[in-house]
Amino acid sequence: MAFGWIDEQAQLRTRAGLVRTLRPRPADSPLLDLASNDYLGLARHPEITEGAARAARTWGGGSTGSRLVTGTTELHAELERELADFCGFEAALVFSSGYAANLAAVTALAPHGSLIVSDAGNHASLIDGCRLARGATQVVAHAEPDAVRKALATHEGTAITVSDTVFSVDGDAAPLAALAEACREHGAGLVVDDAHGLGVLGDGGRGAPYAAGLAGAGDVVATVTLSKSLGSQGGAVLGPARVVDHLVNAARTFIFDTGLAPAAAGAALAALRLLRREPERAARARAVAGELHARLTAAGLEAVRPDAAVVSVRAPSPEDAVRWAAQVRAAGLAVGCFRPPSVPDGISRLRLTARADLTGQQIERAVRLIGETRP
Ligand code: PMP
Repeated sequence: MAFGWIDEQAQLRTRAGLVRTLRPRPADSPLLDLASNDYLGLARHPEITEGAARAARTWGGGSTGSRLVTGTTELHAELERELADFCGFEAALVFSSGYAANLAAVTALAPHGSLIVSDAGNHASLIDGCRLARGATQVVAHAEPDAVRKALATHEGTAITVSDTVFSVDGDAAPLAALAEACREHGAGLVVDDAHGLGVLGDGGRGAPYAAGLAGAGDVVATVTLSKSLGSQGGAVLGPARVVDHLVNAARTFIFDTGLAPAAAGAALAALRLLRREPERAARARAVAGELHARLTAAGLEAVRPDAAVVSVRAPSPEDAVRWAAQVRAAGLAVGCFRPPSVPDGISRLRLTARADLTGQQIERAVRLIGETRP
């Protein structure tokens, strides 16, 4: 029977307790949110929603076409200029998602015969970029510049190293300066995914490459998402103008995808302008993460020290993680639950996000509920 194998897979998932389900979120959810990626609390900020509404009124509900046909509005160009300027890069190119931006950056910068050195903890979108690229991929140990160096030494010719700046599972930061050094020794490019760094790390939230002194370098390319700290939706590649020009001509997820919706562009632009005016939001998100970690640790929970706004708490097993997340949810707190097969190392966790707008009382309550329901 067609698709019969799907039922077998579903049974296996059910038996292993690994079934995923969608839970539509009501507009007025009473849950305390430590699950979203809205790090700066901007998704429902009036300036951001007004930015989206104004853009939709001016430009329409959709961008009407691919970027090379009708899907590039003056708003897209404005967003690209301001994003590049804010993050310290020469140029930027906006995509309909961070996922599409990562596919573009990796595939377009790793031609046939090239080598991609990829961190074992990289996000699925970078992994998929490696799978789609014509170059060969070598996966190296997590956050190990020497492993990168060794891999690059095995190859003659074009090479790139790809890494998250902040890893989405544990919230730990990549050793960016050391990675850049390893790449430079071998004439390789460095492509970093700053999805969790933009808005949180670097002066006023300018991102991890900026913080590491790598923004604007001729051999460094960064990707970002507009869907986390900027409270919008979409993604971008930042880098030298010649790299951006190359992507316009060669990146399939740029060429064959409809341009970013005007509302998303308008919201992201409003968020960037707000960040410039209120640079303290980034530091506040980092401080909330530090406070969450300190309180969780004091309560005897095993939490990873956060380098940005993601705080990861170890669970004994996938089943425990699922039950734990359900119990805190029943008590009024939404947290993320990461477990196999989404985690490469097989370790299940609760994943908390430190929003800049959380109050001390909310942090205290969240830690109390997590502690009371621990497996
Ligand atoms: N990279 C990382 C590290 C991410 O966590 C995500 C989002 N989960 C993405 C890329 C994809 O970005 P987007 O959601 O904008 O497609």
